[in-house]
Amino acid sequence: MSAFDFDAVVVGAGAVGLACGRALSNRGLGVLVLEALDHIGQGVSSRNSEVIHGGLYYPTGSLKARFCVEGRRSLYDYLDSHKVDYRKCGKLVVATQPDEVTLIETLFQQATTNGVEGLQHLGGAQARALEPALNAHAAILSPESGIFASHDYMLSLQGEIEDAGGTVVVSTPFERAEPLPGGGFSITAGGESTTTVTARLLVTAPGLQAQAVAARIDGFPADHIPAGHFGKGVYFRLTGKAPFDRLIYPPPIAGALGTHYRKDLGGQAVFGPDLEYVATEDYSVDPARAEAFAGYIRRFWPGLPDAALTPDYAGIRPKLHGPGEPQPDFQLRGREDHGINGLVALFGIESPGLTSSLAIGEAVATRLEA
Ligand SMILES: Cc1cc2nc3c(=O)[nH]c(=O)nc-3n(C[C@H](O)[C@H](O)[C@H](O)COP(=O)(O)OP(=O)(O)OC[C@H]3O[C@@H](n4cnc5c(N)ncnc54)[C@H](O)[C@@H]3O)c2cc1C
Repeated sequence: MSAFDFDAVVVGAGAVGLACGRALSNRGLGVLVLEALDHIGQGVSSRNSEVIHGGLYYPTGSLKARFCVEGRRSLYDYLDSHKVDYRKCGKLVVATQPDEVTLIETLFQQATTNGVEGLQHLGGAQARALEPALNAHAAILSPESGIFASHDYMLSLQGEIEDAGGTVVVSTPFERAEPLPGGGFSITAGGESTTTVTARLLVTAPGLQAQAVAARIDGFPADHIPAGHFGKGVYFRLTGKAPFDRLIYPPPIAGALGTHYRKDLGGQAVFGPDLEYVATEDYSVDPARAEAFAGYIRRFWPGLPDAALTPDYAGIRPKLHGPGEPQPDFQLRGREDHGINGLVALFGIESPGLTSSLAIGEAVATRLEA
């Protein structure tokens, strides 16, 4: 019989926290997942593109590159075996003008080194044979990219944790943790009434609150908490028939993948996200941005009709870099970093965090087992 109430407590029931909880449950551990909001999956995991990324963009050897490719392969297997809806529609990264051709060629090299399968170089005519409405001088076809029902995926992860005897509680915000002298943690959570539990292991996966949560763990060195930034992106929906079947991406911009196109699982065309640094969690979508969106979209879809874009939704990326700064890797901080045994704290889990979630969960569980 364990001396602790739980083997592991996970803070945050987004895709990543739930994937960590599932990986720990699969290893036979008794898991408690704490979620501040009144439903699971209402944070960053509910406000994104739901794209399963191939893994083209990320620097070779980075956690983003590794977790995206591994996580994507595991995710397709998971979606198949758990009957979660997805469409492996493929993606075209498009050079819309001649001076973008070298950009996508560089990307092709990066993606090949990252182990992304099935990539093809296409000329403009070949790209238009697949998607006749497209303006393209050249393109890369990534057949492994797709979209999926991310909320159903999170419900499935929650179900697995609970089937294994674990618990996912909502409306129960983590408040603080104190490392215990002999190992493990005393963890206090709020909500209707304050509760304190003990656990041998602690994982923090609270998305945009990563810095605030780490600051509430006694002994977590303040200078080991990376600065956080909010990178907002908005989406617009098309009124009318979706013009393409595949995902369409222009070459990436500094700090993000660029405003792209997807046909969602309901068949609706959606464009976004852009990138704007904000100080607070503000999810409004300014209709005035439609004009700039339209100009950008017409680079790859000249046929976009006037006044066809409707404000849709916004998401906020938990970034570790400010405007113009280089984009850092995912951060999985363990004892070697903060000095606390049994704790893995996650920071900067922005895109491709959804695609990578199963791989991040496995990496966290493996590290804690060691
Ligand atoms: C605009 C945008 C587009 C994106 N597109 C894609 C994409 O197409 N493909 C892709 O792979 N990735 C994409 N991403 C990235 C992806 O959405 C995230 O990496 C992923 O969802 C992060 O999951 P998470 O579980 O870490 O965070 P979250 O989903 O935010 O989960 C964290 C949870 O912790 C909870 N929490 C916070 N504080 C506390 C506390 N004190 N106590 C308890 N719970 C707490 C929150 O309520 C939340 O539910 C995108 C992100 C954005 C913003």
